[in-house]
Amino acid sequence: MRTKKCSQVLLLLFSLLAFCAQNTLASEHYAAQRQQMVEEISADARRLVRSVGKDAFSDSVIRAMSAVPRHLFVPPTRRHSAYENRPLPIGYGQTISQPYIVALMTDLLQPGADHKVLEIGTGSGYQAAVLSELVKEVYSIEIIDALGQSSKRLLQDLAYDNVTTRVADGYDGWPEQAPFDSIIVTAGISHIPPPLIRQLKKGGTMVIPVGSSFQTQQLTLVKKDRNGAITTRQIIPVIFVPFTGGH
Ligand code: SAH
Repeated sequence: MRTKKCSQVLLLLFSLLAFCAQNTLASEHYAAQRQQMVEEISADARRLVRSVGKDAFSDSVIRAMSAVPRHLFVPPTRRHSAYENRPLPIGYGQTISQPYIVALMTDLLQPGADHKVLEIGTGSGYQAAVLSELVKEVYSIEIIDALGQSSKRLLQDLAYDNVTTRVADGYDGWPEQAPFDSIIVTAGISHIPPPLIRQLKKGGTMVIPVGSSFQTQQLTLVKKDRNGAITTRQIIPVIFVPFTGGH
């Protein structure tokens, strides 16, 4: 009897060890893929210096891209492709953006450690997690209930505690939390929503894909100066899923 119990305990211990070893191997495998992804997007940054105006992402953005486990933000069946430099489907007809575009939009916002940022289009939660590594507070709005719920759970499980999410139409922004140091919109829209301009701090920055749905949009950098005047600059053509809702 005692021998049987002993061997059961040994078996349990062995399974536990095997499980831990497997997990370590998997996370090392993903960390290597993530490093490769960061090298690819850094090469893209050098290639696109003419259109973007700078030839490298800031060190802090690179650190954030190296830290966030992107494979956990894609459906399990897509994990093997999680670190390829391309968008991937996340269900409900939506996509997680290409890593280069995530890095570029994040870099354009010039995130500061004391910043409060608003994101429209939580989707998988990946962009919110990247921002979470860089700023004080992230507020993120998703219009599709199921996506809003699953990304909220994932961000909580991964202890991205400075991200607050809500399910709503992001066109109206988040007036109770305004003003924001920066605003990032991750769905394509024909115009810049006036409520978002109002909720941007003086001296603040917004990045938004502007253009018609299902076609190319222009990634647009919007600046509000110290006097509240708005200037815009088109960065590069991009293709985002459409901004939906009642506007
Ligand atoms: N930032 C996301 C990308 C998601 S794709 C990520 O890192 O995964 C764009 C998201 O915007 C989709 O999930 C879509 O449902 C959402 N969206 C579209 N219109 C919206 C609106 N009016 N308000 C809030 N979210 C919206």
